[in-house]
Amino acid sequence: MLADKDRIFTNVYGFQHWGLDASRQRGDWDNTKGLMAKSQDDIIEEIKASGLRGRGGAGFPTGMKWSFMPKESKDGRPSFLVINADESEPGSCKDREIIRHDPHKLIEGALIAGYAMRARAAYIYIRGEYIREAETLQAAIDEAYQAKLIGNNASGTGYDFDVFMHRGAGAYICGEETAMIESLEGKKGQPRLKPPFPAGAGLYGCPTTVNNVESIAVVPTILRRGASWFSSFGREGNKGTKLFQISGHVNTPCVVEEAMSITFEELIEKHCGGIRGGWDNLLAVIPGGSSVPLVPGEQIRNAFMDFDGLKELGSGLGTAGVIVMDKSTDIVRAISRLSYFYKHESCGQCTPCREGTGWMWRVMERLRVGESSSAEIDMLYQVTKQVEGHTICALGDAAAWPIQGLLKHFRPELERRIAEREGSLQEAAE
Ligand code: NAD
Ligand code: SF4
Repeated sequence: MLADKDRIFTNVYGFQHWGLDASRQRGDWDNTKGLMAKSQDDIIEEIKASGLRGRGGAGFPTGMKWSFMPKESKDGRPSFLVINADESEPGSCKDREIIRHDPHKLIEGALIAGYAMRARAAYIYIRGEYIREAETLQAAIDEAYQAKLIGNNASGTGYDFDVFMHRGAGAYICGEETAMIESLEGKKGQPRLKPPFPAGAGLYGCPTTVNNVESIAVVPTILRRGASWFSSFGREGNKGTKLFQISGHVNTPCVVEEAMSITFEELIEKHCGGIRGGWDNLLAVIPGGSSVPLVPGEQIRNAFMDFDGLKELGSGLGTAGVIVMDKSTDIVRAISRLSYFYKHESCGQCTPCREGTGWMWRVMERLRVGESSSAEIDMLYQVTKQVEGHTICALGDAAAWPIQGLLKHFRPELERRIAEREGSLQEAAE
């Protein structure tokens, strides 16, 4: 179990105030100027050495992403950092806690990351539903400006850096990085084709890096304590500490920072008081926010909660939004509800996603009540394969994968419902 002294987010439960004075007492903004005395390239190398991988779900190496940014401005164009706080995925709620209780970690991280990438400003795009969080974040940004920590000559470094908060309007798809950029530019939030990646052509056509809130908020601590400290947690390729968000049928759901690669059982026993009704009552787990396939309970108990451990089980770490379902769950209904979410949130610009998400949801709803056939289960699988990998952004995959997980692990349950309905129809006819 991670020792208290090794936690980055020491105020994740909000026992102390989020404001500047209390944040300083927790170590934030401590000699930021000294941290920025390193060269930009040295900071990027330190982040690479720490092994930090993007905490928004995809796990792309953060230092490598930063190194794609140009070292010199072309045609006088500025570079930008965009921070993705549009946390909207079912099961994911860690960025909310950072913004509520530790916003200065994010703002200090924005300054240091922005400096390392030679960015002129950071735009923090926060989901529209996070109303109180947006108020806290703006108040923390105002405090940082008043204390001259950001703005012109930020923290006395001679570096000019602005931080702007932008509120979304409730569209899940604006969490996709290029849709977010479109939205920031004042357009309809629809994903762009990649490449070009944002470092080549991002906000207003300028070099841009989009990073998740957690990825940026851990940066000051990594620089203060050193890359080797951060990389001492977790397994090779899966380093550092991580905020896990455990919801559903555990005795005490929570958001908790733990070392990467902790086993599922240890995570649940140490922090959540175990599974409701005991381990025999565990049905399935969606371990990474709703965009990854479910894993049957008996397979996940000893799994390492990291990118590779969950990939081996045919799932993923995603945001580490762990959704636990016990045997009281109607698993078909749960996945059908998720498929409705993706249908509702599809931006509609590519046909496999626009049409496929609707098809998948309608078939799922019929499977839920057994109004289907075995052949249609196979057909549904084929539809998921037509959507997966054939769309502009990852929403198509995210809509296909939970259904694929259900078909792979719970096909007998689907067939049972079909047989049960056929039986009762037959009975009624006799
Ligand atoms: P992605 O793999 O396409 O990209 C991840 C990041 O790496 C992006 O910033 C991208 O620009 C960069 N990247 C990838 N390949 C690159 C290359 N060759 N060159 C330069 N940069 C490259 O994934 P994505 O679509 O950004 O994110 C998908 C993930 O988001 C899913 O796995 C899901 O877990 C997660 N997600 C999170 C939320 C949330 O609320 N936090 C919501 C939806 C999805
Ligand atoms: Fe829009 Fe879906 Fe295509 Fe993504 S996959 S661009 S959400 S239609």
